[in-house]
This record gives sequence, structure tokens and C-alpha cells, in this order.
Amino acid sequence: MSVKDFFIALSENQFLNNNAKKYGLKLGAQSVVAGTNIDEVIESIKYLNKQGISCTVDNLGEFVFERSEATAAKEQILAVIEAIHTSGVDAHISLKPSQLGLDIDLDFCYNNLEEIVSLAHQYDIFINFDMENYERLQTSFDFVERLSEKHDNVGTVIQAYFHRAEEDLAKFKDYRLRIVKGAYKEPETVAFQSKDEIDANYIKLLEYHLLNGKFTSIATHDHDVINHMKKFIALHDIPKEKYEFQMLYGFRKEMQIDLAKEGYNFCTYVPFGEDWYGYFMRRLAERPQNIQLVTKQVFNK
Ligand code: FAD
Repeated sequence: MSVKDFFIALSENQFLNNNAKKYGLKLGAQSVVAGTNIDEVIESIKYLNKQGISCTVDNLGEFVFERSEATAAKEQILAVIEAIHTSGVDAHISLKPSQLGLDIDLDFCYNNLEEIVSLAHQYDIFINFDMENYERLQTSFDFVERLSEKHDNVGTVIQAYFHRAEEDLAKFKDYRLRIVKGAYKEPETVAFQSKDEIDANYIKLLEYHLLNGKFTSIATHDHDVINHMKKFIALHDIPKEKYEFQMLYGFRKEMQIDLAKEGYNFCTYVPFGEDWYGYFMRRLAERPQNIQLVTKQVFNK
């Protein structure tokens, strides 16, 4: 088992996820998770906004198999939307359909999503549907399409490791899209496995959407990709209002500020909440060097 597979397996362990919730942010997670409650996350957003950075807020939550948990998550996201509106911070929402009942009942999940999207619509706040594993992909896309018939504040994510990503991108070209490499472990029947293939597809999709799409969030920490895209944007004179760069909270902080200072639109993905464990393990899977965050916390006591 590779280090990557090891951390992905940990991220999927329900027992460890549930236990971690009881103990607050631990193991260095506090450097990549912006607090456990709404007040803390709004403070973090204000700090980033002051540096010219907008935010997308993710109320962390995994393994939701009970209606009561999905309803609680919905209430929490509605409260975040209210807090964004009343505080006037520059932020929108990222959410995961599985947290709102995708694995419980599709109508129940749709109604939860609808309530969130329509409150956000009243306040002109954008809602991004994060994309999860392959099993949930088509249902999530269906929800996005259905909701966008009523509201224009909905967008989603295209994961470049999927063989079908190019087709999905063409279908969703009139949407605001975040394009990423893809974070979950997927079999070779549905996803590219090698870094070279994923990177090549990633760049191809970004270029396509920048030229043909509505709005592109270039979501990566990969400096080679970022430098390539900067040149591509300049060469094709892509207007600023058509794209932004995105990175995760706590990663490559200096590069985030530098990109904003250079005049690029920049948005930080800001996760918060007690359910931080799965998110944190996926970040360790992507970049085992992040394990330093853990060892520093465990040994620097
Ligand atoms: P990688 O391929 O991990 O890294 C490429 C190179 O960049 C590395 O070799 C290294 O040289 C450099 N590098 C990377 N990270 C660092 C670092 N921290 N410090 C120094 N150098 C570094 N995935 C999903 O499946 N669904 C989603 O909805 C989703 N949303 C996302 C939202 C945002 C804003 C971001 C940034 C990512 C999201 N992801 C999502 C995760 C994404 O799919 C990738 O798993 C993740 O971003 C890692 O890939 P990468 O492009 O950042 O670069």
C-alpha cells in the first residue's frame, strides 16, 4: 500500500472520523482548518479579505447516513450564509451533497440543497457543489443541472483524473466551474492513474474552459501548472472577470498572497467545523510532506 493509499484509507475510516470530532482540532489540523465554529471562520475570512483574497467556505462533514445529521448540516450552512450576508465578507459557499443526504434519500437531499441555494440566491451568494467520489458523480451533476433551471448561483467541479471529464466539461461549459486534478482513490476503469496523464488532462481542461466557458477557478497548488496558465491567460488575453486561482486554506500561503498582489483574482477554500479528520487525511494523502504538520504537533509539546 502506498503512503497515498494509506492516508486515503484513514480518511475513509468512520470510527476514526467519529472519534476525532470529540477532541477538537488536533494533529496540526488547525493549520489547514479555519476553526470549529462560524465566528472563527468569519474572522479567518476577514483576515484573508484584507489581503485581497476572497473565500469559499466549506462546513466540513463526512459519513452522513442519518437524516438528523443532514438536517443539522443544512441548518449550519444556512447559518453560514446568513453570517456571510450580515458581516458583508467577500465569500461564497462550497458544499458536498453527501453531507446533505445524498446517501440517505435523493428527494430529501434535493430539498435540502434547494433550500440552501434559494437562500443564497436571495443574497446573491454563489454555491459551489464540490465533487466527491465517482459513485456520487452523476447524481451530483444531476442535482446541479436541476437546481440551475431555477437559480443562476450554482456551479460545480470537474475532476481531471476522470476519463469522462472532457465530456462533462463540454456539457457544463456555461457554468462557473472549479477545475481540479481529483482527490479520491478511483480505479483505472474510470480514472487516469499516472501523474503525467492527470496533469496533461488537467491543463487541457483548464485551457478549454478558459477559452469557451463561463468562469474558471484554477484550483491547484502546482506551481508548474500555475505558471503555464499565467502564460496561457496572457497569450489569449483572457479577461480577469473570467477566471481566478484557488488554493486550500493554509497551503502555500505566501504564493496565495503573491498571486493576489500580482493582481489575479484569488479565492481561498476555507474549511471549518468539528468534522475535520477526513479532510485532513486527504490533504496528507496528496502531499506526504504535510506529515510534518503532524510530527511538529506531536513532538513539539
Ligand atoms: P499536486 O499534483 O498535488 O502537486 C503538484 C506539485 O505542486 C507537487 O509535486 C509540488 O511540487 C507542488 N506542491 C503541491 N502542493 C504543495 C504545497 N503545499 N507546498 C509546496 N509545493 C506544493 N478534489 C476533488 O476531488 N473534489 C473537489 O471538489 C476539490 N476541490 C478543491 C478545491 C480547491 C480550492 C483545491 C486547491 C483543491 C481541490 N480538490 C478537490 C483537490 C484536488 O483534486 C487535488 O487533489 C489537490 O489540489 C492536489 O493537487 P494539486 O493540483 O494541488 O497539485
